[in-house]
Amino acid sequence: MLWRVALLTLAALLLTAGKPRHFDSHTVYRVLPTKELHVQFLNEFADEHLHDILFWEDANVANKSADVMVTPRMQSSFVKALKEKSITYSVFIEDVQKLIDKQLPDNVSMGPFGWDVYHTLHDVHAWLNSLPASYPGIVTTVRAGFSFERLEILGVKISYGTGRPIAVIEGTIHAREWISTASVTWFINEILSSTDARVRSIIDQFDFYIFPVTNPDGYEYSWTDDRMWRKTRRPNGPCFGTDGNRNWDHRWSEGGASSDQCREDYAGPKAFSECETKAMSEFLTSLGSDLQVYLSFHNYRQLLIYPYGSSHEVADNAAELHKMAEKAVKALESRYGTHYGFGSVADAIYPATGGSIDWVKGKLGVPYVFLWELRDKGQYGFLLPPDQIIPTSEETFYSVLSILEDVWDALRC
Ligand SMILES: [Zn+2]
Repeated sequence: MLWRVALLTLAALLLTAGKPRHFDSHTVYRVLPTKELHVQFLNEFADEHLHDILFWEDANVANKSADVMVTPRMQSSFVKALKEKSITYSVFIEDVQKLIDKQLPDNVSMGPFGWDVYHTLHDVHAWLNSLPASYPGIVTTVRAGFSFERLEILGVKISYGTGRPIAVIEGTIHAREWISTASVTWFINEILSSTDARVRSIIDQFDFYIFPVTNPDGYEYSWTDDRMWRKTRRPNGPCFGTDGNRNWDHRWSEGGASSDQCREDYAGPKAFSECETKAMSEFLTSLGSDLQVYLSFHNYRQLLIYPYGSSHEVADNAAELHKMAEKAVKALESRYGTHYGFGSVADAIYPATGGSIDWVKGKLGVPYVFLWELRDKGQYGFLLPPDQIIPTSEETFYSVLSILEDVWDALRC
């Protein structure tokens, strides 16, 4: 273990010396393990080469593809090993840095807040703080708590009256999933400014609590130091951070999560060990039984999923959630033809425990709980170009409206 600590410390020093981290000629491979042995091999290879291999999409089960980012110096060994094991693969992204550069034009964050570029945490918070003055009596800012680095977990409450059921929208638990922040802020703007009769008639039936960035430390770090950062930022042994979507107290660490502090899906030393998940869970609990809808946004893979992430558990209203998801993905597809899969987390992706939606469903008993894995299917992955922010948000909002309409129908009768 000591050699590992020394190596990681050295690597951390090297990383911070030339920050932000560069990803020149880093390549993303899509690999298809067809046996459990393949899955095991990929994970062991990643463990042995912690700073050369990074999963963009985990290898958890056989016959589900995984996306793996590999540094230039490791690529020939990686490909050689895949060939030896007869694991099929293709190159999905040739040079990660080129896509990062495209995502961040030089004039980023200049001018008024909009959706043709991605925004820093500072800009997102400044925009949220400006909304109450623009929409007096309708918008108030809310703070769920603070992160480990004492950044605010900031959101807005949007309310057109009292006594309405509550819908919570959660963005960016995983730091590098910038399209989540961008789309969730677009939803806020649409909810406030749309004059479309259909939008207005359903939006006015709910109170919204919307948090564009629930992992502010990680999101900030993904801008300043490491574009591919996923976890929170609290130090854990030789490494930093916990997977904020494996740290919730429902079947915590029972599968599809790692106990290795250095892995991307590290569940943390215990449930709710992270300031961010603890604060969010306490805030959600404080909303009481009016909380009826919980919508969480990640990327990528184009999936609309619902609880649970454990293959041993089925939601009490699974059939109803399934029907709503089926209708919602059709609504989404009707805008630009973007195809989404749907199902429970365990069925549509793979078993993964300790996620926020499972806790909200299983512990708070919120009936209508969904998670989107937004665009795309891996061509750009986390590095979705800024010109896709608006189309992604527009089509996704069609599915959000579809779900809210179905919930409203179910609740009023
Ligand atoms: Zn995610």
